[in-house]
Amino acid sequence: MLVVKKFGGTSVADKDRIMNVAKRCIADYKAGNDVVVVLSAMGKQTDVLIDMAKEINPNPPRRELDMLMTTGEQVSVAMMAMAMDVLGVPCVSLNAYQVAMHTTSVYGNARLKRIDTERIRNELDLKKIVIITGFQGVNKYDDYTTLGRGGSDTTAVALAAALHADKCEIYTDVEGVYTADPRVVPKARKLKEITYDEMLDLATLGAGVLHNRSVELAKKYGVRLVVRSSMSEAEGTVIKEVVKVERMLVSGVAADKNVTRISVVGLEDRPGVAFRLFDALAKANINVDMILQSIGRDNTKDITFTIPRDMEKDALDALEGIKDTLNMQDINTNSQVAKVSIVGAGMMSNPGVASKMFECLYNANINIRMISTSEIRVTVLIDEKEVEKAMNVIHDMFGLED
Ligand code: ADP
Ligand code: ASP
Ligand code: MG
Repeated sequence: MLVVKKFGGTSVADKDRIMNVAKRCIADYKAGNDVVVVLSAMGKQTDVLIDMAKEINPNPPRRELDMLMTTGEQVSVAMMAMAMDVLGVPCVSLNAYQVAMHTTSVYGNARLKRIDTERIRNELDLKKIVIITGFQGVNKYDDYTTLGRGGSDTTAVALAAALHADKCEIYTDVEGVYTADPRVVPKARKLKEITYDEMLDLATLGAGVLHNRSVELAKKYGVRLVVRSSMSEAEGTVIKEVVKVERMLVSGVAADKNVTRISVVGLEDRPGVAFRLFDALAKANINVDMILQSIGRDNTKDITFTIPRDMEKDALDALEGIKDTLNMQDINTNSQVAKVSIVGAGMMSNPGVASKMFECLYNANINIRMISTSEIRVTVLIDEKEVEKAMNVIHDMFGLED
């Protein structure tokens, strides 16, 4: 059997944890499996590197930031290989360049395009455990890229797909996927199983336990994913196509604080205005999420939308570039907002779920600033400081507790 095992930052934060992970991987290897290990940077090392960069340049060039960030994962794979060596097991560490993990060229948010498997296969044939850097890739200029924060999960799933692995296990610092972030909602319950679609929405809407593109890839290539703890033997959560257990109305609540709301006020009310506005943002590679256009009055209208908070400067620069051609009167931004969402495939056939969510926010005196919905989710934009309260009251309302 070929197993891909991915360990996040907390799981390899220090010497003892690295030894613990090494032993866990060796147990699998000794049971006769081919083992590929994917690692994140140790502890909060990626944050430390970003802070270091910003100390010398508040706006570091994205290429150089990737060059710096990729060192984090390189440290962990080398340390892990040394740990396994001391335990007497043959192994080799490889970075994205050595494997050849090809990505698109966008620094900081690259997508994996193709993974060469030859080197990995050769090392596995030599009966070695292969330890690979998560989060990083190489683009067509032979430069290092990164896959976006939390991207090691995506490296692991992409490797599992490319190698036709039998299993892909994501080891982290909680015991699986919960009905809400257990650090925010103490009553959150661990899910035994969840569908790809529900997990994809939860991950996209802020449930940081999995990188959303890893779920997208797992669905596309049918990789069965398991999320479990690196500190215990507890059974984790299985992510797969169909879930047998009775369909719940809502399977989870997620929150995302990486949000800024931008309002463009006093735009001319004529065809082509929205197109030019969002075209400028798209060309600057900015993901726009919720969009609200006011009803026109006096031949003007307002357009309000949300973007990731870390793209605020780029978005404002892009808007500045079209300010004159679009005749806008004003641009307001608010970064003290956050999105809270409920996700559940059971919503499709049950009207009234959204109103139930709005009712409990009303009871908690929380003001809703924007709303968006799909067949299996409802998202509201609220003040950031009310996120914890909102998540807990919504979680209680839908009876998701243990
Ligand atoms: P790793 O470094 O292992 O990749 P992450 O910090 O990226 O770990 O992801 C694990 C964290 O995700 C947990 O510590 C938890 O606080 C958070 N989290 C958010 N939403 C959920 C959820 N629905 N279920 C489980 N964990 C969640
Ligand atoms: N080390 C990277 C990060 O902190 C990637 C990851 O942990 O998945 O974002
Ligand atoms: Mg993670």
